[in-house]
Amino acid sequence: ALAANVIVMLVYLAVGPALQLPSHEFSYDVLAMVATNLFGASIVYMHEKTSRMRFLEACLLREMVARDGLTGIQNRRMFDHHIQRVWQQAVREEERVAVLLIDVDCFKDYNDRYGHQAGDECLRAVAVSLSQCARRPLDFVARYGGEEFAIVLYEASREYVAEVLTRIQRSIAELNIPHEASRVAGRLTVSIGAAFILPSSQRTYEGLIQLADEALYAAKEQGRNRVVVMEAEYHTLRTGRFEKRHGPLAG
Ligand code: GH3
Ligand code: MG
Ligand code: MG
Repeated sequence: ALAANVIVMLVYLAVGPALQLPSHEFSYDVLAMVATNLFGASIVYMHEKTSRMRFLEACLLREMVARDGLTGIQNRRMFDHHIQRVWQQAVREEERVAVLLIDVDCFKDYNDRYGHQAGDECLRAVAVSLSQCARRPLDFVARYGGEEFAIVLYEASREYVAEVLTRIQRSIAELNIPHEASRVAGRLTVSIGAAFILPSSQRTYEGLIQLADEALYAAKEQGRNRVVVMEAEYHTLRTGRFEKRHGPLAG
């Protein structure tokens, strides 16, 4: 708009003398055009700047709400949001969904031995590794809370779940983070509980998370640094009921 206005003004300057207007009228017109353009340009610039700032602030706010502050990956809030949407879509399209819960082994001991800052670094490294293990468009990786991470896989065939699980174990091994206080190995390890099922409209996604949680608990009980996959056990679950854990690993 500014360019168009300047062109109009230049044209007027060029053809103005040919119109034989009185010189004071011609000068007044040119002055009015310059002033209007300057005024208009500054108002529009300020308006544009404010709306762009507002847009950026809104994006930033959305990012802050969606991301975990420590690791930068999606947070629990987004996990809850995502699993609901994926569940509904999977019911409609009759696709399998998998939830993987990944818990760092003996992490309290890691903090005690190396300090909380080293622990934070460790969680960041694990988060980066995990996000590289599930990269299909509808795959989703989040920090579930504390030293637990969650992965949701859509259209999860048995082969794909197995592939992602292998990738996770390999990438954590490749991190090769020393953990002398671990009761499992000399380096940092994770336990994984995986559940995958074909959703039905009679059930809710909470049963799937519960199944993954039970699988994780089983992996811990069996000695950590391993994967437990549950599938058939889904039929015995009562959706939405999270049973209290018992035994020495409770809590
Ligand atoms: P297990 O093998 O049974 O999972 O044992 P664990 O020690 O990993 O599990 P526990 O639940 O006893 O301890 C979890 C620890 O994770 C305790 C807590 O201090 C640590 N933790 C949770 N969130 C953070 C965090 O953001 N940063 C750091 N550095 N540590 C964290
Ligand atoms: Mg834990
Ligand atoms: Mg742990």
